Amino acid sequence: MSTDKPLPSPEEIQKKLAEFMQREFGERVQLAAWPQPERAETGVGEESGRARRRVFDFQFKPKDIKAHLDRYVIQQDEAKKVLSIAVCDHYNHVRDCLTGKETGDYIKQNVLLIGPTGVGKTYLIKTIAELIGVPFVKADATKFSETGYVGGDVEDLVRELYHRADGDRELAQYGIIYLDEIDKIATPPNIIGRDVSGRGVQTNLLKLMEETEVPLRSPTDIQAQLQAAFEFQRKGKIKRETLNTRHILFIVSGAFDGLREIIRRRLRESAIGFGAQPVAAVTDAELFRMAQTEDFVRFGFEPEFIGRLPVRVVLDRLTVDDLYRILTESEGSVIKQYQASFRAFGIDVLFAPDGMRAIAERAALENTGARGLLTVCERVLREFKFELPSTHIRHFTVTRQVVEDPAGALAELLRNAPTEHHEFVRDYERRFAQQHGLRLRFTAEATEEIIRRARESQQSVSDLCDRLFKDYQFGLSLIQKNTGQTEFEIPAEALADPDRFLSDWVVRSYRPAGEVKTTGASAEGQSSQPAGTEADGKENAG
Ligand code: ADP
Repeated sequence: MSTDKPLPSPEEIQKKLAEFMQREFGERVQLAAWPQPERAETGVGEESGRARRRVFDFQFKPKDIKAHLDRYVIQQDEAKKVLSIAVCDHYNHVRDCLTGKETGDYIKQNVLLIGPTGVGKTYLIKTIAELIGVPFVKADATKFSETGYVGGDVEDLVRELYHRADGDRELAQYGIIYLDEIDKIATPPNIIGRDVSGRGVQTNLLKLMEETEVPLRSPTDIQAQLQAAFEFQRKGKIKRETLNTRHILFIVSGAFDGLREIIRRRLRESAIGFGAQPVAAVTDAELFRMAQTEDFVRFGFEPEFIGRLPVRVVLDRLTVDDLYRILTESEGSVIKQYQASFRAFGIDVLFAPDGMRAIAERAALENTGARGLLTVCERVLREFKFELPSTHIRHFTVTRQVVEDPAGALAELLRNAPTEHHEFVRDYERRFAQQHGLRLRFTAEATEEIIRRARESQQSVSDLCDRLFKDYQFGLSLIQKNTGQTEFEIPAEALADPDRFLSDWVVRSYRPAGEVKTTGASAEGQSSQPAGTEADGKENAG
């Protein structure tokens, strides 16, 4: 880029760029917020100091980490142990490097997890990263095999760590990168015509897993490059910052479906001559535990690649019992989430043991591990979440019946909520008092009758009351004027013909008033009229 002409300020350039993008691509493309150029330089010293101290102080023992994981993750004991050890080894080693106590050859404890979806792989790693306070990035390896430019994408993960660490370069270099679906970048040697991108990704990943310098500014990131240009303009030089991947812990995982057959075949072949082994009888997890490097190579991994993943562990499928325990014991249980979201509307939800058991049973059928729990809860409680906040229902219990027939259970709940409907009648009384300064009190029978009618005519209690008693404010004010009465008890009879009831009342209020004291002309005129016609009350009211 030419530097003859002084560059505009970063803000001006950003504005121009945004305009250009808008013109060219419309709403489809947006410029991300401009990174503050000063930020990377200021504060980092202090931040890095903190990061350094955190890793420097790394004091966890494998049992501490496992105990922490036990609070959130149910089962997967083997994975918890193996990860706890690997993480301790890794960060102890990092600490030793920082304090100059590094010993010769150290092989990084990158981890390979084998297991189906939704059994807690991500949850384990995320929980560990949070505990020890390092940034964590997860991505699907499929993303890399699908795009042509693998190198840049893989390096983007490291840069993402830097962003997750809030621009703390040093902390980013101690982060954890987790790649799921790693089995999808395997390139089985016997499949002809398959592209070699899988191998390309493996080679790129291998470089990262060993040690490489990743430029902090992506060569394909136009913003980052412009920023470099400003820096050059200001300082006459560019600091080419990089991120070193030596201390980044890599964890990869996959379901490895095809690997089972490869292991079985090897076992069968080796069994010849040793007498038949009952290979078919073992579970998937048991079979995976017998996997050897040669199986992974046959599966399609480069020997160097699989060699860089020395720690391997198999995760178990979750049974109905496990799923039940996740609901009842895990601190991250979805039930807590649901309770909190209902709580926000002032509604208490109780999950009965039989209800949770029914959720677990249904979730197991989904075949998506613990993710199924969320699917089932969502299906069961969606309508409750929609309906209940607008009612006066303040609590309900999720039983097996609710799980098995949510629509029926919801209808019944709405039908059998008399106490809550009473509240609507009380609400109307309160509203009436606030608006008109007069207190209505419906008797218990009148309240029941209002609820019955509202249900029958499928309208809300307040709509019904607004309609039935629309003239009461006028009629009752007249009575108040005549008698000073401010509180009125409305009996059930009133509901048969509320207007007539009111006008009778009004008329009666004039009689003693007429005898005792003289009121205004119109009132006197009224009192002489025959009582009980509907028009009376209304005319008075108007
Ligand atoms: P995956 O194995 O595909 O990475 P996740 O770890 O993302 O699955 O699990 C999805 C969600 O299911 C988690 O966020 C967590 O709430 C729940 N979950 C999965 N496995 C467990 C487990 N063993 N114990 C407790 N919760 C779990």
